[in-house]
Amino acid sequence: PVPQVAIVGRPNVGKSSLFNWLARRRLAIVDDYEGVTRDRMTTLIESEDVFFELTDTGGLGIEDPDDLTDDVRRQIDMAINTADVILLVVDVQTGVMPLDELVVERLRGVERPVILVANKSDQAHQDTLAEEFHKLGRGRLITVSTTQNRNRDELLELIRDRL
Ligand code: GDP
Ligand code: MG
Repeated sequence: PVPQVAIVGRPNVGKSSLFNWLARRRLAIVDDYEGVTRDRMTTLIESEDVFFELTDTGGLGIEDPDDLTDDVRRQIDMAINTADVILLVVDVQTGVMPLDELVVERLRGVERPVILVANKSDQAHQDTLAEEFHKLGRGRLITVSTTQNRNRDELLELIRDRL
């Protein structure tokens, strides 16, 4: 079976942007599990002859918890639990937010490698801002910018090393 990589994180950190950036697609609705998990998207990615399946879980549904059925929650949990590697996306421009901590909380007990993807580091001087995310206590930290195309190859290497 193809290794599974799941993108998680609070709304607006750039999960969908990361998905499209890694897939090198603008519009990336490849698998649409509408009615099963809202906003879930999956695509096959190849990097240096290594294949993995990338899933955008669409933000753990914590934007509006009341709007999510238990079924949807279970699907999201399944995405997390079936993932071989988890990309936890955060935003260097906002810093650590309470919802980031909630996501980390929900990942507790998930014994899969986590890569802490500090997105929106559009310029090199912003990389130091990402140090703050070490306090989340989870995952190997890497700064990226999907819009400025920073550290894509480096992120793919980290993923490959953990599959
Ligand atoms: P999601 O809710 O986590 O899926 O986030 P989106 O991918 O929809 O992105 C949320 C917003 O962040 C959008 O306005 C994106 O254009 C913006 N964004 C995404 N990546 C970057 C980045 O690397 N730098 C900056 N400055 N903005 C970004
Ligand atoms: Mg999204």
